Amino acid sequence: MDSVWEADRTHAKADLVVIGAGIVGLFTALFHKRRYPAQRVVVVERGAFPSGASVKNAGFACFGSPSELLADLDKEGADAMLARVEERWRGLLELRRELGDEPIGFEPTGGYEIFQPHNEGYTAVADRFNALNDSLRPIFGEPVFTWDDEAIARFGLAGVGHVVRTHLEGPVDSGRLMDSLLRKAMAQGVHFRPLTSVVRLTEEPAAVTLALADGGTMKAAMVAVCTNGYVLDLFPDLPVEPARGQVLKTAPVPGLRLRGTFHYDQGFYYFRDHQGGVLLGGGRNLDPVGERTTEPSTTPMIQNALEELLRTVILPGRSFTVERRWSGIMGMGRTKAPIVERRSPRIVLAVRLGGMGVAIGIRVARQAAQLIAQ
Ligand SMILES: Cc1cc2nc3c(=O)[nH]c(=O)nc-3n(C[C@H](O)[C@H](O)[C@H](O)COP(=O)(O)OP(=O)(O)OC[C@H]3O[C@@H](n4cnc5c(N)ncnc54)[C@H](O)[C@@H]3O)c2cc1C
Repeated sequence: MDSVWEADRTHAKADLVVIGAGIVGLFTALFHKRRYPAQRVVVVERGAFPSGASVKNAGFACFGSPSELLADLDKEGADAMLARVEERWRGLLELRRELGDEPIGFEPTGGYEIFQPHNEGYTAVADRFNALNDSLRPIFGEPVFTWDDEAIARFGLAGVGHVVRTHLEGPVDSGRLMDSLLRKAMAQGVHFRPLTSVVRLTEEPAAVTLALADGGTMKAAMVAVCTNGYVLDLFPDLPVEPARGQVLKTAPVPGLRLRGTFHYDQGFYYFRDHQGGVLLGGGRNLDPVGERTTEPSTTPMIQNALEELLRTVILPGRSFTVERRWSGIMGMGRTKAPIVERRSPRIVLAVRLGGMGVAIGIRVARQAAQLIAQ
């Protein structure tokens, strides 16, 4: 039987249990606790630390490259594209304000989209470049993108014909970001319960019972499900597809000139400098079916393609060693919009963040906290 201390502190019914300690889950808990300081708010996480996409990503604080924005415009119309950019931009500003640039390792390096010579994607962007900048001006109050072909020589790239730069983008250190966020939430009085995997939710009139993988249970007045690409484990009917993203990181490359965040091949690849080496990810388009998985592994096909890109475009003629390879799981859908909704009276969902959770995570969490409060 539990001691009185355990019964009071550890196993007491929570006012809110947040499932998933990613950027969305932790901000949801923080915002709820701020609103209701006396309430008991618990974040349960199946890893020993946050262990989802929020700590596996590439750490781009970005809002969309020109080719991505123009593709979105063609697919969904200008209003939807601009609304999404505004949401991402506001999210980035809020994130930086809430946690601070230094604690999240934000560096105002600028971001780039690079195009192969004679590439269709380049022509499509060049033709509508000024119109795109004009349409973004009301959001940013200034021109967002400029051509910067000198960057090819400046960064030592090869096989690149044209480069677009934005001074508004840059990298963050996702490890420091999540560490700061976790510490802030806990300092505010949020309880963090790691190594706790939820396997089932049962809603009753007065509470939700959470069945745990270790056979235990928890009870909560409200539950926020913030498990992103893993949400099908709890709600298999949701329109969410897991999407694995693979990454590699080289050891420091002496004299590396690369600096900033780079988008390549319509966003299928992304790379940046990190501690003197190159962090490179993408290639999911090479195996869309195989990468529709929550398996946390890497595959030779995609890792080889990433290495080829290092050899031919990013580090031409340079020797390098890959010191680390990993993957992370995103949640995708037919649209890029996240799912933020009340599933039932006591369960709120905030999932399917796609590839932009660094930017929109804080705003999704704000919406989730609002729904929980209603
Ligand atoms: C390789 C890669 C690169 C990316 N690069 C960028 C980038 O540069 N910029 C950008 O903006 N976005 C990027 N993203 C996307 C971004 O990382 C995500 O959108 C964001 O982190 C999602 O946050 P989240 O809190 O919704 O989910 P997650 O961070 O995935 O958190 C979900 C948490 O729930 C936990 N969990 C799951 N199921 C359970 C359960 N049953 N019980 C308990 N806990 C559970 C998981 O362990 C995990 O910690 C990238 C993603 C990947 C994979």
